[in-house]
Amino acid sequence: MDEEAVTRDELKARLLRPLERELADGAHDRVVAGGLEKLLENLGQPFPEVGRVLAGYRQMEVEVRKARLEEAIQLLGGKSLAQGPGDKGQSPQNPAPSPSPLHLDTPLEALNLGPGSKKKLAELGLRAVRDLLHHYPRRYEDRRTLQGVREVEDGAKATLVGKVLSRELVKTPRKGLQLVQVRFMDAWGWKFTGVWFNQPWVLKQMPEGASLVLSGRVQKRGGLVSLLVEYFEDEGGESLSTGRIVPVYPAKEGIGQAFLRRAVWRALEALGEMPDPLQPYRNQVAPARLPLGEALRQAHFPDSEARLEQALERLKFDEFLLLELKVMIQSGGSALLGRMFRVTPEMVERFRTALPFTLTGAQERVLGEILADMQSERQMARLVQGDVGSGKTAVAAAALYIAAQNGAQGALMAPTEILAKQHFDNLTRYLYPLGVSLDLLVGSMSASEKRAVQERLKSGQTQVVVGTHALIQDGVAFHDLGLAVIDEEHRFGVLQRRRLLGQRPDVLVMSATPIPRSLALTLYGDLEVSQIDELPPGRTPVQTKILTQKTRTQAYAFARQEIQKGHQVFVVTPMIEEGESEATAELAAATRLREELERLLPDVRIDLLHGRMKPDEKDAVMERFKQRAFDLLVSTTVIEVGVDIPQATLMIIENAERFGLAQLHQLRGRVGRGGLESYCILIAGETSKRTLQRLRVIEASTDGFYIAEQDLKLRGPGELRGLRQSGMPDLRLGDLASDQQIIEESRALAKAILEADPYLNHPEHALLKRELQARAEAIGFREVI
Ligand code: ADP
Ligand code: MG
Repeated sequence: MDEEAVTRDELKARLLRPLERELADGAHDRVVAGGLEKLLENLGQPFPEVGRVLAGYRQMEVEVRKARLEEAIQLLGGKSLAQGPGDKGQSPQNPAPSPSPLHLDTPLEALNLGPGSKKKLAELGLRAVRDLLHHYPRRYEDRRTLQGVREVEDGAKATLVGKVLSRELVKTPRKGLQLVQVRFMDAWGWKFTGVWFNQPWVLKQMPEGASLVLSGRVQKRGGLVSLLVEYFEDEGGESLSTGRIVPVYPAKEGIGQAFLRRAVWRALEALGEMPDPLQPYRNQVAPARLPLGEALRQAHFPDSEARLEQALERLKFDEFLLLELKVMIQSGGSALLGRMFRVTPEMVERFRTALPFTLTGAQERVLGEILADMQSERQMARLVQGDVGSGKTAVAAAALYIAAQNGAQGALMAPTEILAKQHFDNLTRYLYPLGVSLDLLVGSMSASEKRAVQERLKSGQTQVVVGTHALIQDGVAFHDLGLAVIDEEHRFGVLQRRRLLGQRPDVLVMSATPIPRSLALTLYGDLEVSQIDELPPGRTPVQTKILTQKTRTQAYAFARQEIQKGHQVFVVTPMIEEGESEATAELAAATRLREELERLLPDVRIDLLHGRMKPDEKDAVMERFKQRAFDLLVSTTVIEVGVDIPQATLMIIENAERFGLAQLHQLRGRVGRGGLESYCILIAGETSKRTLQRLRVIEASTDGFYIAEQDLKLRGPGELRGLRQSGMPDLRLGDLASDQQIIEESRALAKAILEADPYLNHPEHALLKRELQARAEAIGFREVI
């Protein structure tokens, strides 16, 4: 008996999981290869009642599928998604909320909105009650005090309600304008004229006797009042359109505002008391944010501006929370166990003492965050952001030292050989005096050299290895990799990183691309973010100046002066032609610029770096520049991030407007690394107001995070260079650029929830899980680890 029960339960579980996933995926019948019905033919056999419910699944409409899936899941003893918070579905003594005839998953037909309504709503993508309630108003009109015609002032904006008395189309003799003039009477019996210019079709929308709400500008001439109408609509039967703050929805041709208001109103009424999925977390959600039901009500029909704001705060919070939950669950981040390192104050102090400098406050703070991660049992997945030269590598060195002290190995992977060598030199400087054994592994080493390093890695003799892709090539095996540091993560593909991460080491990603914290938190959902937002002392900021095409040659006169002082100069040019392949166009632009500069500066040694070169060719050019074999480097945007050229004091950027601000800032970071007074000249290819406004941000600031935030504000997140559009979350209310506070709070809550319940299986999370399944579908995010 018992044995059979177990087997049956197992079968149930096996069938339940794909059904739940199918529901979470939006019932598109794509979760099971070959279709859900195929699955039922096998797994469904012991459960004929489930087979009946789902028979013909492929032909069903999505909404029907969802309802059937829920039914099937319930039959199998899965969690019913529409049940209330305390309701476990089998204990009758539970105080279930009063059963309401409608819930969020109910299809909108149930609202009986009249013929054609289903089609209209479907055109807006609205199918279930939940969709409708989250179809937020685009804006609001304040119609709390409806004015009578007698009270309005000449020249002011006003909203009037009037009944159509008569209408006519008038042609003005002189300018040939078409005027629609409609006579209205307001509720007090006063008359006014509504006027539309060149919109003859309006006439058809004015049946005599219709009652309309009209907004526009008032004109008073003698006793006559006209309204130059900017916006109008049917008053609607339920006075939802007057006497209150009125929602105006995103709509389409033929779908009226009054209809939408009525639909939302009905839905809210029919739902009655709405349970709040975050009820158990009211305190974390913050009291200023309304309970969900109230927030939805106020978002559509606000009692006041203050209530509206509280409502939107709450809905935004939920939006971000669902995003964070989705990101965290999909990345499995919350559940991954990593290594627990032992960290003692003595270890850290030994590292500090051996350093040739004192860590900055920001470095100390970030090191503290890293060490906390390393000590915890969860796998560390942390992104350290900081401008070039802010001291990320020094902090990583501390982490590597701790790993070595724990008997584990550490690896630092850099995108190019020259960077790997630079890191190796630095790490050797920091760690060798502490007795750590280091190795370098790069592609250009001889086979026997590589084999020797591989041997030492395998035996555990090497404690810290620095390298390029060579680290993830076949033949490389670690004795015990405990910490992986990845420099400039965007250069590596996800799969490449996974190879290094096969042993589940703690992971530290270093990036010099400043992304505003709010954006980073959400884009790199599975990474924690640390910022080194302070430069080591003694750095003089790079002086920056904007020139135009007319004054462009001044830049090169200045370049000559710098070179005469024995300094070096970068000149960067973006791709300008279109139509050709990117690399070809870049090469052409760079070659042309080089030829021009050779004529302009005949006594200057010039060389070229471009995207068509192989990695080792690029490395060779950079190496020769570093050795001062030439004075001026013309380059497309491929200059290696992070390579130190201490004598470089001038960066000239042609057509600077074609770069993102964050990128300009990065390019500027190539100079001023040797303590010499340094300069950056931005040459604007065009001088529109917008261009100059953007470039002035760079001119005025050297704070990478401030610049990235301005970039985000001026261009919008989708345009940020280097971020794929497809990776941007699709948010209705939230704004990644300005909602940092809400994002961090919602993220903290998401983390706390998942720590207690990684898959949201607790009954008290059932509602939340359903929200997530129903609403997070549209939200995208970028996969990192
Ligand atoms: P990043 O990796 O962020 O580009 P690095 O760690 O390579 O920065 O540091 C850049 C330079 O600044 C290195 O030469 C390093 O020795 C030096 N440096 C790092 N931290 C400090 C500090 N706190 N004080 C002085 N110099 C520092
Ligand atoms: Mg660096």
